[in-house]
Amino acid sequence: MNFPVDEIRKDFPILDQKVNGRPLVYFDNAATTQKPMAVINRISEYYLKENSNVHRGVHHLSQLATEAYENARESVRKFINAGSKSEIIFTRGTTESINMLATIVESRVNEGDEILVTAMEHHSNFVPWQQLCLRKRANLKIVPISQQGVLDMDFLKKALNPRVKFLAVTHISNVLGTINPVKEIVKLAHEKGIPVVIDGAQGIVHSKVDVQDIDADFYAFSGHKIYGPMGIGVLYGRESWLNSLPPYQFGGEMVEKVGFDMTTFNHLPYKYEAGTPNVAGALGLEAALHYIDNLGMDKIIEHEDYLLKIATKKLSEIEGMKFVGEAPDKTAALSFLVEGIHPYDLGTLLDQMGVAVRTGHHCADPLMDFYGVPGTVRASFGLYNTEEEVSKLVDAAKKAVQMLR
Ligand SMILES: *Cc1c(COP(=O)(O)O)cnc(C)c1O
Repeated sequence: MNFPVDEIRKDFPILDQKVNGRPLVYFDNAATTQKPMAVINRISEYYLKENSNVHRGVHHLSQLATEAYENARESVRKFINAGSKSEIIFTRGTTESINMLATIVESRVNEGDEILVTAMEHHSNFVPWQQLCLRKRANLKIVPISQQGVLDMDFLKKALNPRVKFLAVTHISNVLGTINPVKEIVKLAHEKGIPVVIDGAQGIVHSKVDVQDIDADFYAFSGHKIYGPMGIGVLYGRESWLNSLPPYQFGGEMVEKVGFDMTTFNHLPYKYEAGTPNVAGALGLEAALHYIDNLGMDKIIEHEDYLLKIATKKLSEIEGMKFVGEAPDKTAALSFLVEGIHPYDLGTLLDQMGVAVRTGHHCADPLMDFYGVPGTVRASFGLYNTEEEVSKLVDAAKKAVQMLR
């Protein structure tokens, strides 16, 4: 491996600390990633030198901040290869992006209509659609998955009928690591005239995203999962869609002209950015995207796949080890259980040994129900993780299992 992981780790000072007397091993990247100095510096630089409200002033600082904010939008556009900057809406994150969408499409969904989601969705790409269906007396249809954690494509094909108003699917599962064939899914849906919403919270981090190639109608993601700050995210939306849908929130910035008895709305993307935006967050996100571009997404993916492969192999030596999610096409997240041991106990012992993993339902209760488990232990990998850390996880897991048996 020629991936310069030792050099990379120097960009992430937070990793260099002890937890319970042992060097921190951070394997909770699917929940949030750590931030490189480039991101941290960009945020403080903004507050040190550029802070001002955007789009509203002619004075120097306001122009600086506006320019920086709009450049960040352009960087996001480039990163996902959107056709236009107007299609990049800054939000607080994936959750807000999808809630916004499930609200603004409300008038398009009527009693008896259907919305398709999958059994592997994160709550934030599930509950907003479920609640929309409840409000509109529409039906939420669930595309099932196999025991391996692969979407049932035959079911999906048959389920695409004229009553379906939207299909919402995750690009990559945060629990199973399954990479869904989103391009193929979009093609099938579009043949039936059905728009597709993609939860890209993990897809953006572990794959090369090209929204035009995927032909997605909507693609949502969060800054903090891709080494950027919390509180900033993106909703990509096809321009024709966003132009035809109503605004989400009302207030400053999203208006064109306001009168006592009527208001006209601003054009895209501002129509969907009411109020003062998270400028520092957008700049931090831009710095994170540049950081990734400099390393090269291909190399990052290769590195993470390698870690996943060795972790899977070594952990499988533990007696009673059961992996949740064994799709042939998977990445960077490894969920597991050990027979007779509660995931919470295992996670707690791992933490005592300095290894940070996540235990629980991973915001995917329906998926846990499908597998009939209370939760799993999940180790998820990022660009700064090392082979040595994988060995520490395996050793710690072996020790913990011994103690708990
Ligand atoms: C983390 C995550 C979300 C939610 O993202 P927030 O940043 O909490 O809004 C949604 N879907 C997937 C697949 C995720 O991993």
